[in-house]
This record gives sequence, structure tokens and C-alpha cells, in this order.
Amino acid sequence: MKTCPTSRRFCRHACLLLLMPATCAAAVSSNPVRRFDEAVARGLPQRVTLAANRLARGVSGSTLDVSHAIEGLEVTFSDGTQAIHYAASWHGRPAVVTRSGEHLDITVTGDGAVEVTGFSAASYTAHHFRHGTPVGSVSTARTGDAIPAPVTTPPVLPDGVSTVGFYMFVHDALADRLDHHIHAGYVAWWVADIRRQLAVSRVQAIYRRRLPGLTNLATGSDDLLNRWTTATQVLEMREGLSHVPGRAWFKFMLLLRDQVAPGVSGRAWFGGDHALASLAGPYTVIAHEFGHTLGGTHEAAEVSWSGYWPCETNLYWHASVLRSNCYRFTTANLRRMRDYLAGELEPGGERRFEMVD
Ligand SMILES: [Zn+2]
Repeated sequence: MKTCPTSRRFCRHACLLLLMPATCAAAVSSNPVRRFDEAVARGLPQRVTLAANRLARGVSGSTLDVSHAIEGLEVTFSDGTQAIHYAASWHGRPAVVTRSGEHLDITVTGDGAVEVTGFSAASYTAHHFRHGTPVGSVSTARTGDAIPAPVTTPPVLPDGVSTVGFYMFVHDALADRLDHHIHAGYVAWWVADIRRQLAVSRVQAIYRRRLPGLTNLATGSDDLLNRWTTATQVLEMREGLSHVPGRAWFKFMLLLRDQVAPGVSGRAWFGGDHALASLAGPYTVIAHEFGHTLGGTHEAAEVSWSGYWPCETNLYWHASVLRSNCYRFTTANLRRMRDYLAGELEPGGERRFEMVD
């Protein structure tokens, strides 16, 4: 994936950045995460008021309408914490809610931005960000904390269940970026979407960290995708993460701090199982590169419309500051991905191991 120069992107997104006043009054009876859990436990759908008065004034409303849990979407963070996702409406806009551990993150896409509002059970403070490092969440970053050994449970493939597993290995240079924030910004919105759109019963998003030989690979050279592909093979064999035709596909991505190459924020094997994505790229970068591994092409992407503004679908080849993101795959690329999973892409087109950006 090619992106515009960092400085231009920075200017654009700096303009969009919102910093919320984020202190709740001490008078709230329970914090927002607990309130959410209590509401969901009563059965869905539910309307939940997440913020106390002072915060509510800052965000012009704080009511979350939770409609249903998203089934078949399994997310495991690098400390073993699992997440449950909910379809919801936040400030009247469709949202995906990620509830994990002590965190609740609300992702809204549209109008050219991903907006995430996060709550932590550890405080009454909300944080809100639209691109890049989450604003207001720095104090909750855990650089240097010990992270438990990664979960290495072999995948269970019950009869009749088909699985696409997206494995994301967070490079050691991203120690200051929290899994749940990466997920809320770059991943939650499209995995929830393809879980609905692809003909598989289970979509997994698995985060891993601190794996010597994998997450500490030297970056910045042109052979990184080759080295990454080789480096994961032992892990794939040890954990039984082999492609099972018609039933299971596992994709392995290394998440990077810096660009893969100047002007390149992602790279993948077309129809293959390995990819690179830089969090310096747009919020669509992970969807873009995983999309290539599932047979998605630039040619089947398009410039569409988001309201009155042109937007690029996830697999559009060149991110422009003059267009927003649509935060969706085209119908043509979703069809290609379904065909790929069914083994029905055109001969030679399924796994031709061509390196694509
Ligand atoms: Zn591409």
C-alpha cells in the first residue's frame, strides 16, 4: 500500500484531532465499563449511558445503543485476554464495540476517519482519537510491563466450522501501542464486516508480542517480507496453523512502527499467507494487506463516495490526502475473497506469490 508523505498526512489528521475533556464527576455510581457490563447482562438490545454529565457535555451525548453481540468473531490479545464484539449505535452512527478485560472501545467509521472512544474500568476517564497515537491514553500505556507468555493453543476446528485466522505480530518497536487500541482503530471495523460478508463461520484476530526471532526482526530493508515469511514457518508448524483447503486459512502479519519502504506502508504476498503493515499508514492498512492475501486486488477496488466527498475502498492502490476512506471492501473484492476461500479464483490467480504493496 502506498501512502502520501508523512508530513502531509500529519497535517491532515492533526486538523481532525479531537481532544475531549475527559474527567467524570465522582458522583457516578459505577464506572462506564461496569455500567456497560451490567446492561448487557440484562439482555440485548440495551441503551447504556456511558459518561457522566461533564463528559457528556464534551461529546454532545454519551448514549450507546447496543443491539447484539457479533457471533463468530474471536479476538485474543497478546496477554491472553479475549474480546467480545457488539453491533451498536453511538451518537446515532453505526459502531462496533470491543469489550475486553478492563477496556471498552467504541469504533465508528465514516466521514473519512476512524473515531475511537475508549473507556477503562480502572478510571472514569474516556479517551478519544481519530488517527495515530491515541490522545489521552498515554497514562494507560504499559511500556516495559511484563507480558505473559503468548497463548499457543492449537486452533480447534470442529466439524462444519470454517475459520479465517488473522494473526498479527506486534513488533517490539511498538511496545507503547496497546493491543486493544490497535484493534479498535485498525481492525475491529473490518473484521466485524467480513465476518458478515464472507462465507466462513469463524473469523479470528490474534495478537502476539515479544516473540524473539519474530517480533524483533530487523526492519527497513527490502527483503523483510521474505525474512518474515521464513521466520513464521516454525511457529506455524508448532501450532498447527496450516491451511486446510476449504476449511481453514491462517494469515500472518508483522505490524511495524515505521514504513516498510519510503512511501510504502504495507506489503503482502498476493493470495499468500504473509504480510507487513505499518501503523504509520492509514487505518485501512491492515485490511488492505490482509485483503491481498485473500485474493483482493487494486483493480477491483474503487473510488466511491462518502457523503459528498470521494473515498477510497480498502484495497485502493494509492492513498490520497484529497480523498477520504470508505472503510469497506468493494462488492467485487468481497466476491474475490469468497471465491478465494472456496478455492474458485481463476487458475493461477489464487496463490501466485507475487509481492504487492
Ligand atoms: Zn495493495
